[in-house]
Amino acid sequence: MTPGHSVCPLCGNQEIKPIMICRDNLTGGELFEIYLCTVCRLEFLKEYPDEKTIEKYYISPEYISHNDDKKSFTAKIYYAVRKFMLSRKRSLVRKVTGLKRGSILDIGSGTGHFAGFMKKSGWDCEGVEKSLKAAQYSVTGNNIRVYQPEEILSLPGNSFDCITMWHVLEHLYNPEETLSQVKRLLKPGAPAVIALPNNISFDSIHYRNHWAARDVPRHIWHFNPVSFIYLAAKSGFDILEMKRLPFDVFYISVLSEKSRGSRFPFLAGMIKGFVFFILSLFDVTRSSSVVYIIRPKSS
Ligand SMILES: [Zn+2]
Repeated sequence: MTPGHSVCPLCGNQEIKPIMICRDNLTGGELFEIYLCTVCRLEFLKEYPDEKTIEKYYISPEYISHNDDKKSFTAKIYYAVRKFMLSRKRSLVRKVTGLKRGSILDIGSGTGHFAGFMKKSGWDCEGVEKSLKAAQYSVTGNNIRVYQPEEILSLPGNSFDCITMWHVLEHLYNPEETLSQVKRLLKPGAPAVIALPNNISFDSIHYRNHWAARDVPRHIWHFNPVSFIYLAAKSGFDILEMKRLPFDVFYISVLSEKSRGSRFPFLAGMIKGFVFFILSLFDVTRSSSVVYIIRPKSS
């Protein structure tokens, strides 16, 4: 375990308070305490496994970001939605870059499906992935070049038309350091696309410590538009736009229903997910996930 934060790790404020205890439903049932910073509104794990021990928390047949087992019912839903979302993500990248083709670095590329999809669409796409198993699959299954996280440091600057991070930053030990590398690697004026779970979403408020996107201890940081805007500004970025990732809410709601022991998790999750989705149409800052389009501040 890490020694634990005594002040806010983002803004340094001393007023941090415990807000909830969440269970790791994926690997061992361990409990982790989430703290809130009353100034920048960052929520974070006070103590979490260090880099030597975190790996075992990712070893689960259900950890579907990193393997391709399509047997379980929830996994089937996940894969069907992912297929649809790939083209949505491609449209978003095209729109924010203003390019039909270009170069992308996908940080946290997992098994390389997004990178592979973009490559097939004519983009020059590379990935960054810590899990060797997932990285290997990206190479063999999706024909993607994948770097280990520490290799980012030696990539030449001003290299990419876009950098994407789909639900990745919340897992990283040092998001600020990663964002500073993102800034260095982007071509002048190029954007980054950062998707994150949103802890002030309607579904997060409803499910509280059963909200599946808490995903402790894999998610160390629990962002919302207030805390992420703070982080982005501190890291030298402007926020250009905030967008929804509309289908996340259904998947998250079904898993959350499972976590709280619902008798009909699929049905209840889909119905509630639909309600949360409709409500979020009126306020993107309450959407289950938010995609932040950011760009380095022009100096
Ligand atoms: Zn803070």
